[in-house]
Amino acid sequence: MSEQTRYILNESDLPKFWYNINADSPIAPSPVLNPLTKEPVTPEFLSVLFPMELIRQEISTERYIQIPEEVREIYKLYRPTPLHRAIRLEKMLGTPAHIYYKNESVSPAGSHKPNTAIAQAFYNKAAGTKALTTETGAGQWGSSLAMACKMFDLDLEVYMVKVSYQQKPYRRVFMEAYDAQVFASPTDRTECGRRLLEQDPDSPGSLGIAISEAVEVAAASGGIKKYSLGSVLNHVLTHQSVIGEEALKQMDMAGEYPDVVIGCVGGGSNFAGLAYPFLRQNLLDGQRTRLLAVEPTATPSLTRGVYAYDYGDTAQMAPIMHMYTLGHTFVPAGIHAGGLRYHGMAASLSALYDAGLIEARAVKQRTTFEAALTFLHAEGILPAPESAHAIRVAIDEALDAKQKEEKRVILFNLSGHGHFDLSAYEKYLADELEDYEYPTEAVEEAIQHLPKVAVM
Ligand SMILES: *Cc1c(COP(=O)(O)O)cnc(C)c1O
Repeated sequence: MSEQTRYILNESDLPKFWYNINADSPIAPSPVLNPLTKEPVTPEFLSVLFPMELIRQEISTERYIQIPEEVREIYKLYRPTPLHRAIRLEKMLGTPAHIYYKNESVSPAGSHKPNTAIAQAFYNKAAGTKALTTETGAGQWGSSLAMACKMFDLDLEVYMVKVSYQQKPYRRVFMEAYDAQVFASPTDRTECGRRLLEQDPDSPGSLGIAISEAVEVAAASGGIKKYSLGSVLNHVLTHQSVIGEEALKQMDMAGEYPDVVIGCVGGGSNFAGLAYPFLRQNLLDGQRTRLLAVEPTATPSLTRGVYAYDYGDTAQMAPIMHMYTLGHTFVPAGIHAGGLRYHGMAASLSALYDAGLIEARAVKQRTTFEAALTFLHAEGILPAPESAHAIRVAIDEALDAKQKEEKRVILFNLSGHGHFDLSAYEKYLADELEDYEYPTEAVEEAIQHLPKVAVM
């Protein structure tokens, strides 16, 4: 008898609610601080950047938040996404483990990021916002938000890290095709950009600088423009919970339940999106699924960072959060998983990791690409280099189960495809990719610059 490879839900199975971990997390969320006063932020401070409904979701402890019909209608363009059983990969590895993956690469922008981009564009439109500003590194977030803004008739300014703007022209063209305005950051459009260009006219830019520019433009617009962030914040993680809610139903269709759930982590949103609904089942329903977050050895915020209050951006304009961090001045090595190059980590994920409810592992770049090609050869899908971090550890779990001769049910998140990352694959195939070890000195230096706060 042949076994089923894909588990497909109907449109009517699309979740009606997002799941908010703050309702069930045993650790109360730490306060978010104003970067100027270092006191807890007020809704008035946040309302310069975000519409009220997103601020409400940011601090909410409500377990379920209703997904607006307008958002569900657009989700239906690509959701529910398929759950696959990687039978060919299992055979290739010769493992008794069953490997499942949730395929978020089928979204129009090619990753999980539209799940929150669509929601954020909707709430901004409803609040009367005319335009959004945001930053993007490799362009995955920028293209997701560009799509969502087009659908809700909002203008969009994207501050794209200058090196990526120059080296990755296709993501820029993708954003421009959705009518977004894309600027190479640092620009001369903002005070912080001009200051930086004066010091260094050839600055390659960084994600921290681009965030500072996008925040400044929104803050100075008198309420016309708001700012939008694609990861890290609680409302972003909440919107991503559709991934895990669907996966719970699909595992049920498959008649199995995962022993381990795996996802890559940049700011934590795709991992949390898949893992938090399973964590809820651990906390409330007696399940014992291991939840495993995977990061690059080049930016090991969970496995090697410190748990402290730190700024969300380089220019110290974004709110201060309690998180695992490598220091906001830390500049990560140029690894090809651009979406994982962030110094911090979502607050709820940091707290849960600190409490031992989530595990973390760091993997090197080359073994990650090796896993990506194994997956490509078995399953036919070219994964995003970010997602390949989850694949690496899923394969390691399957090989460990083989060695121990035990059946193990493994579920990982395929957060996106790699069709815009072919230059990275080209380098790997030409044997030109480097491994980066834990940057001990750079992190020790950056940790010196953490803000001094009174709380805790
Ligand atoms: C942005 C991105 C990530 C990392 O961001 P998280 O918020 O940690 O999910 C991972 N995978 C892909 C494909 C991305 O685009």
